[in-house]
Amino acid sequence: MAPLIVIEGIDGSGKGTQAKALTDRLSEVGRRVELLSFPRYQETLFGHAIGDFLNGRFGQLNEVHPFLASVLYAADRYESKAVLLGAVERNEAVICDRYVPSNLAHQGAKLSGVERAELLQTIQRIEFDIFSLPQPKLVVLLDVPVEVAQRNIAAKKPRSYTDKAADLQEADGEYLQRVRDVYLRLADENSNWYRVKSVRDGQQRSVADIADEIFERVTRELLTDAK
Ligand code: ADP
Repeated sequence: MAPLIVIEGIDGSGKGTQAKALTDRLSEVGRRVELLSFPRYQETLFGHAIGDFLNGRFGQLNEVHPFLASVLYAADRYESKAVLLGAVERNEAVICDRYVPSNLAHQGAKLSGVERAELLQTIQRIEFDIFSLPQPKLVVLLDVPVEVAQRNIAAKKPRSYTDKAADLQEADGEYLQRVRDVYLRLADENSNWYRVKSVRDGQQRSVADIADEIFERVTRELLTDAK
């Protein structure tokens, strides 16, 4: 069974870029590796529903309770379970561009205190206990300040699920800040998380520099896994 290596971070933090770079580098050194990206907007029924949700079809984002939103994201993964388990079976590593931690950070960010803590527990129960999705071996958090992420988003090409440059959620800086805070807390609390500081001395590090750091960390993980 291949370990799941999950790339996380706020929107515009460079997840897609780094997930692809990591996959390419691992395959260059001869590892069997596959990249999966969640949500699977085009491939699953629930993925389509998430696109509709992010475009405001079910109401303003703050009108949809985060518990209900979290079920859409978890169900997209449940619908993708055969694909996920197939990839885990065939490969030496499976890279996920977003996974369960995105659900924790994004939905958790909409609540605080006890309500947040309860929702985080509930999401993990749904995804790991009820839907029996595999646990990540390593979660790589790409940590960037919100302003840097928003600059990246503004420069980004249109996505498949929205014709807007930034979807409703990405446009909201205060929300992204709360998401970042939840991610940082999760990184502190969980020993299988690895935080990458993507900005140094106020400057975003180069894609290659960040990719080197991640490759090194993941290679170490794969070596200990093989023992
Ligand atoms: P995410 O998947 O987290 O939303 P992307 O990988 O799509 O982020 O990156 C968002 C935008 O920022 C893309 O246009 C990408 O080329 C650019 N980008 C990513 N990482 C860096 C970096 N280290 N330096 C400069 N631009 C970057």
